[in-house]
Amino acid sequence: MTDEDLALAEVARAGAEIRTYLGRMAIREQLAYPLMAICTLLDRVRLCVTKEKGDNAFILNEQEGTIAFRARTIKRILQESDRLAGEFGYEPGYDRLRLMQMSINLFIVHELLHISQNFPHFASVEHIKNGLPVYGLPILDIAADTLSAWACANVEMGVMESDDQTTLLRWYSNALILAYVIGSFVFSIENSPPKKQRALSLVISALLVQALTEGTLLRDALYEGWTELSPILILNFDQTNVFNAIVIDRTPGMLLRSYQEIPGNELDLFWNSAGKSPLFDTMEFGARILVSVGAVKGAKAT
Ligand SMILES: [Zn+2]
Repeated sequence: MTDEDLALAEVARAGAEIRTYLGRMAIREQLAYPLMAICTLLDRVRLCVTKEKGDNAFILNEQEGTIAFRARTIKRILQESDRLAGEFGYEPGYDRLRLMQMSINLFIVHELLHISQNFPHFASVEHIKNGLPVYGLPILDIAADTLSAWACANVEMGVMESDDQTTLLRWYSNALILAYVIGSFVFSIENSPPKKQRALSLVISALLVQALTEGTLLRDALYEGWTELSPILILNFDQTNVFNAIVIDRTPGMLLRSYQEIPGNELDLFWNSAGKSPLFDTMEFGARILVSVGAVKGAKAT
């Protein structure tokens, strides 16, 4: 099987799975815009792959009704998610394969969301970059990342035929971590603070959702407008020693009330670990910060 054949098979599988399970959510009236728009889009277009290289992740051809993804990117995502699965001790088998498939689902929903976010063509990226320098794209990306993680967690629930809400949140937290892996290992983030902010924000979101499922989240410390589905964008920790983030939701606000400086080099460790293995370190540094700012209950001393 060539790389293109493999990528095409994966893209076709992902498209069918996403359409099926988002469709089921729509029947239960659990699907609002913009995920509903993705369902409609998947009915209208055919997903395919291209072996051509280029900067844009996908090419929408409205005349032909196709969306082409780059075979090389699909391959890189499979490689990185396989590597991550190994890092987490998954043996080769169904669970490891499923993690890889989930990464492809995530990537595709993320890109399709860009179409419903009204920037369907690469040409528009330039206008956004110029018109809202530095943060225009990360804001759109983190919103697409968060929502695609939510969609993919729901797809997993459909595949598993489960309705358990805690299981859904666990999948969602895992999907946010996978979105971090795609955002920081498949695509390079070296030397780009805004890309680091976007990537590490996903780790913080995943840790907050994890704390929610474990009953260790201290909601009083958080902005009332924050929900587990809120996209957040952490501050640039090259520039400040205070840990906080902007909640980019219906009414944007700051994630934390407190503006305390983080002692020692904890913020630096977290910041500098972006896009580096082992992933567990990044999660550990993030978890320690959330405990020290009072957002999550600390582990009991043993
Ligand atoms: Zn994007």
